[in-house]
Amino acid sequence: MSSGTLVLALVCVLEAFFDLPYVGATDSDDIDAVTKHLRVFGDSLYQEPSSEVGDLVNNWDASRTSSNPEELGTYVEGDILFPESHISRNGLSSMSYHWPDGQVPYVISGEFSERDLNTINEAFAEYHEKTCIQFVKRTDETDYLDISNDYSGCWSAIGRIGGPQKINLQSPGCLRKKGTVIHELMHSIGFFHEQSRYDRDDFVDIQFKNIKSGSENNFLKAEKSIADGMGVEYDYGSIMHYSSHAFTANGKPTIVPKKGLVMLGQRRGASDSDLQKIRNMYHCQKGNEEGDENS
Ligand SMILES: [Zn+2]
Repeated sequence: MSSGTLVLALVCVLEAFFDLPYVGATDSDDIDAVTKHLRVFGDSLYQEPSSEVGDLVNNWDASRTSSNPEELGTYVEGDILFPESHISRNGLSSMSYHWPDGQVPYVISGEFSERDLNTINEAFAEYHEKTCIQFVKRTDETDYLDISNDYSGCWSAIGRIGGPQKINLQSPGCLRKKGTVIHELMHSIGFFHEQSRYDRDDFVDIQFKNIKSGSENNFLKAEKSIADGMGVEYDYGSIMHYSSHAFTANGKPTIVPKKGLVMLGQRRGASDSDLQKIRNMYHCQKGNEEGDENS
């Protein structure tokens, strides 16, 4: 047995006995799987940001609907978009996906009000306090988030895609809740929607008869290798879960929890499971009260 095989075998045995933190796939495995999932969507990944989505978010009334503004988009799964012209259509296979050491440089190019900026900073603070992810003002880094405020809804790419990458937060719709900002940022560090998980059919029933025609693709499942929840159980309370009426055609629910009366689509803040998934993806247990604060 080679030493590499021995180490792997030991890790497996230790994990089985001591329930060690999840040991994720290598970055290159992740990239292959993510690329594969994204390719299912074909050209629709590369739409232009749309002012029609801007209208929908502009007219969205938080007090009259349980849906979230990022569920209004005509982009992939509502809010996933790879809009930059420098990304070639096969560029996904060369993307790096994770941010090294969890450091995410950013610039704010949109004209946001002070209140909006406070909301963005509160979202950053939640990551800083409870995970290893650090959003840092860009100096000369090549890869960074460009946080914009265009009239095109709430959207982000998935993971680090190389060069400047836009994450759009149309004001005020996408900034009414800190959770919407946390949600888009979580896409940008590498996460899909919770109900895209391979095992979601064990937890929710998707009501295809109630889904708006043309939006069915938003309810595709991803493969286990990318949407296994990073070793964390399915979470109805995830900030990455759609609301129960997302993309409804007739006002009836599109997602019904098997468990009965549980709320879907909360945007108050990252759930404990969300935070653990982030820690597992970035191999750092900071902020986990049961883990080592300094690891
Ligand atoms: Zn989303």
